[in-house]
Amino acid sequence: MKPFDAAYLRMTAWYVVIIMIISLLFSVWVYNQARNELQTGLNKVIELKPMIVDYPQANTNYSGMVSGELNNSRGRLLSRLVLMNVGVLVAGSLASYLLARRTMRPIEESVEAQERFTADASHELRTPLAAMKTEIEVGLRQGKKLSREDAVTLLKSNLEEVERLGGLADGLLALTQQDTADLTQVDLDDVVGKTANRLRSLARAKDIDIKTELQPVRVQGDIVSVDKIVGILLDNAIKYSPEKTTVMVRAYQKDGHGYVAVEDQGIGIKASELPHIFDRFYRADTSRSKTHIAGHGLGLSIAKKLAENMGASLEVKSAPNKGSVFTLLVRGIAS
Ligand code: ADP
Repeated sequence: MKPFDAAYLRMTAWYVVIIMIISLLFSVWVYNQARNELQTGLNKVIELKPMIVDYPQANTNYSGMVSGELNNSRGRLLSRLVLMNVGVLVAGSLASYLLARRTMRPIEESVEAQERFTADASHELRTPLAAMKTEIEVGLRQGKKLSREDAVTLLKSNLEEVERLGGLADGLLALTQQDTADLTQVDLDDVVGKTANRLRSLARAKDIDIKTELQPVRVQGDIVSVDKIVGILLDNAIKYSPEKTTVMVRAYQKDGHGYVAVEDQGIGIKASELPHIFDRFYRADTSRSKTHIAGHGLGLSIAKKLAENMGASLEVKSAPNKGSVFTLLVRGIAS
């Protein structure tokens, strides 16, 4: 039995108990009301008896006959009420089970998502740890034969893994934090310009040119979130582009909304992978296997979460080997 099956059954049982208590109380009330009504009717008929007693077919045991009929009516009423309660029990059990499943579904989904998240996070943690462990073991096995040069290489490699782990820890923290956006007036062109400048040195290492086209556009948003989102999009654009290409960053307004678009001439994303790239830990085939580009598949899910927190959204258009355009859409324009 799955852990949630027991909870479904317990919840169904509670619903059925509540329904049956209500149904039984109602039945008792109906029965009493009907019995009183019948009794009153009988008394009236007995009062009328002297008026009809001379009627030729009148039975000498008139009141006995009427009270016999009254008992029959009570019996029929009782059996119908019992039948109704059995019906309520059957239909109520079925409805309760369906209702319990419906009520528990979001909780079950959230538990499943949390389990998947923990499993994925442990998997991501294990890779750099295993690499560090192997390198350290090899170094130790060499003992005194380990040259100073080899030791430095080992330490540098370990440092890289530690940095990877640090990046992963930051990413995990960013995803689990329930931060609410601090909405103020934000000049998108200003923030985006600064973020682009910050990432220029990273781009230069691959001889990538970051170009900007920034129209003045003021929106209601969160400065820190916009900076982080554009930082993630630019970092990806640089990571997934070959050397000596251009990354274009635009800020503009259209149809009363603010936009930031980051366009690259990189490896692009297959149509079949596009729906998944905002999922936690998802990495497209190309970045995972062919190109061995570093990453944990957390950047876009963090960017999406930050965008949604401030009521904005992220969209993507991409074609393999042609490039990608990621667009942040901030609804409304602040005056
Ligand atoms: P990471 O970059 O750490 O793998 P992300 O969540 O930022 O994680 O991105 C998820 C996946 O989306 C990446 O692994 C990559 O396959 C794809 N992707 C994201 N940005 C781009 C881009 N600009 N060009 C091509 N592929 C991209």
